[in-house]
Amino acid sequence: MKFLLLVTFAIVLAAVDLNQASPVKAPVSIDYMARLMPSDVEIKHVGGLDIDANDNMIIFHRGSRVWKADSFIGNEFNRQKYGVIDENVIEIIDANTLESRVSTGANQFYMPHGVTVDSDGFVWLTDVGLHQVFKYDARDFEKPLLTLGTKFESGSDSQHFCKPTGVAVSKSTGDIYVSDGYCNRRIAQFDKDGRFVRDIVDQEQPMFIVHSITLVNNLVCAASREDGRIVCFDQSTGKKVSTIQNEHMKTVYAIEYDPVNEVIQAVTGENHGQPSTGLTFDAAESNFGNLLSVWKPKHVNLAEVHDIAISYDGGRVFTGQLNGELDEFFFERKY
Ligand code: ZN
Repeated sequence: MKFLLLVTFAIVLAAVDLNQASPVKAPVSIDYMARLMPSDVEIKHVGGLDIDANDNMIIFHRGSRVWKADSFIGNEFNRQKYGVIDENVIEIIDANTLESRVSTGANQFYMPHGVTVDSDGFVWLTDVGLHQVFKYDARDFEKPLLTLGTKFESGSDSQHFCKPTGVAVSKSTGDIYVSDGYCNRRIAQFDKDGRFVRDIVDQEQPMFIVHSITLVNNLVCAASREDGRIVCFDQSTGKKVSTIQNEHMKTVYAIEYDPVNEVIQAVTGENHGQPSTGLTFDAAESNFGNLLSVWKPKHVNLAEVHDIAISYDGGRVFTGQLNGELDEFFFERKY
């Protein structure tokens, strides 16, 4: 009996050891590089940020529009008081030289939120004022190739969103996943032609402001902003597979999967009295959701980070803040 107990104890110790050792086996570092100051465009109130395969950074911002208490009446945009934003709100800049490539989007949007460049280079935008999602050719932002949702009408069926926040598109199937959003508690899934497939929900604990979305291999993961959870579902069945939570992540505003380094980068916002931080979670299957790093750059306040983007080579992480600030970090994972 004593022997058995000892053996059991040794096995438990070994298991604990293994867990503690894993971050040492796969150390990561994230270093602050620079604040990005594009000289020829003015970027205010960053809603969304993404980067394409050629290091073009796409910023969807709000110009002078500020989300105030009276911006919405209930869930509907206050059109009596506020009109369309008459400034350019789509900026494409070279992430290396910071030169402006495209500046456009005036007189189209009301409350810009998310931007995603898919693997074919199409650009997806969400506007929480319009309650709509748009797909664009990156060379033509005049007319969308696809529109989902009904203009200025909130709802929770296949034709309506409620302040949709972001989009992720599957490279293999073309399926479209919309994080929906501020006032729905779902991911809405559509096929590549925009036909509604299903709602994906957390039945055990409904998500609370579904604010950001990313695909991780066969999973679709959403940031449940206000309760600080990253909730991951099977892309094809919609079943919940995994939830990432951490004491440093009281809220989570932005998430992005980095397939090169097999990590999920996340940024908190208002953090219940703790400073806002970046967090790196392992996304490798064997260690999924384990915290690898908490990053708190000394001279940068991340409190207003609203979106995060990762370069295609995986080395560079970019954050965009509601105060207009853009920052760059260098990330390395040493296998
Ligand atoms: Zn937001």
